[in-house]
Amino acid sequence: MAAHDARNIFDDAIGRLDQAFQHADVDQEVVERLKHPKQALTVSIPVRMDDGSLRVFTGYRVRHDDTRGPTKGGIRYHPDVTLPEVQALAFWMTFKCAVVGLPYGGGKGGVIVNPKELSRLELERLTRGYVEQLADFIGPETDVPAPDVYTNAMIMGWMMDEYSKIHRRRTPAVITGKPIPLGGSLGRDDATGRGAYYCLKELERKRNWKPDQIRVAVQGFGNAGQHIARMLHADGYRVVAVSDSQGGIYKHDGFDVPSLIHIKNESRKLQAVYCTGSVCEAIDAQSISNAELLELEVDVLIPAALENQITAENAERIQAPVIVEVANGPVTSEADPLLGRNGRLVVPDILANAGGVTVSYFEWVQNRSGYYWTEEQVHARLREIMCREFNVVYDTMQQKGIDMRTAAYVVALNRIGEAISSQGTMQFFTGKIK
Ligand code: GLU
Repeated sequence: MAAHDARNIFDDAIGRLDQAFQHADVDQEVVERLKHPKQALTVSIPVRMDDGSLRVFTGYRVRHDDTRGPTKGGIRYHPDVTLPEVQALAFWMTFKCAVVGLPYGGGKGGVIVNPKELSRLELERLTRGYVEQLADFIGPETDVPAPDVYTNAMIMGWMMDEYSKIHRRRTPAVITGKPIPLGGSLGRDDATGRGAYYCLKELERKRNWKPDQIRVAVQGFGNAGQHIARMLHADGYRVVAVSDSQGGIYKHDGFDVPSLIHIKNESRKLQAVYCTGSVCEAIDAQSISNAELLELEVDVLIPAALENQITAENAERIQAPVIVEVANGPVTSEADPLLGRNGRLVVPDILANAGGVTVSYFEWVQNRSGYYWTEEQVHARLREIMCREFNVVYDTMQQKGIDMRTAAYVVALNRIGEAISSQGTMQFFTGKIK
């Protein structure tokens, strides 16, 4: 992400509120409140490295709004993390939880680090050090973290363990996305991809798609990107392009996705594998850049990597009629109207990638009740929520004649507004009390 984008990303995110406000049934004061994150914590984390030296890392945790419940949202480990980025991500979590009707507000955390450069023990010391700093900020009733970019179940397990040690009680509900033996939920691992898949299945139904005629490109082949590619491929969709941070590959007839996943997870890199050694000879694929992948002539484009990928600069060159935002914030607010003008349908991040936090909610419920669900129950409940809320947003889009992102913000804003006005105070002071 370019430095100038990082400075503006939170402002860009909250800018969308003004547009949604025009179509929502809430007071201006609600919008004003939501433009300011409730709390932001910056911490320094000293870590003893394996060679004996000391490195001090910077981390953040932001709680954006907790009117509808404890704040909820992941923690990312990435060298480009900034405070405005974490604020934007926390803001999106508030709206994401509201759009799928979860009893949560939004939060997010981040540590400025390239975790791939750390040994496993350094990573564990960093993780435990971060939780030590956050121990009074997070909690099952206040703020509940989860995985995000470059964090995973093992890291969530360390975090839960450290928090439990500090508070001297086993507290699985403080964090979600944990390993199954430590209180994780079945179905959490592929939940983000699965939620987006259920959205696409609704679209398939509405548009009478024949899966084998639908060409899909997936940018980002991490947890979410891999799972949605796998599910679509299993249904007969043609996944013709995938990429990761190293670059991408394209194949006109489509890839055998399970073997791509196998290769990626063996080598940690797509392009390198395809350009060297035996796999390169075995699989016939063309190398493309991440930028080229976005502009391919496909039917469905799935940005599943980082924010700010489709901007005013490349929006006009995007050819896919349907874009499903599996990443958070891949399309900037300047790009939105350009895509809309060209008739592109954007299934927005706060809906399309809400499957992850929905199954996190299921995990939190299971931890607090101590009664665990089967994978079938998790899938069925996730499907019910995603399909219902997809249709609420889709119908709002059609009824109001607005784009799907604005419709998602309208639905969420109305729900958050209802919670704020149920507190009664605002109506009293704005003279709207009956
Ligand atoms: N990091 C994921 C997201 O952006 C999941 C958050 C959660 O499970 O709380 O939605």
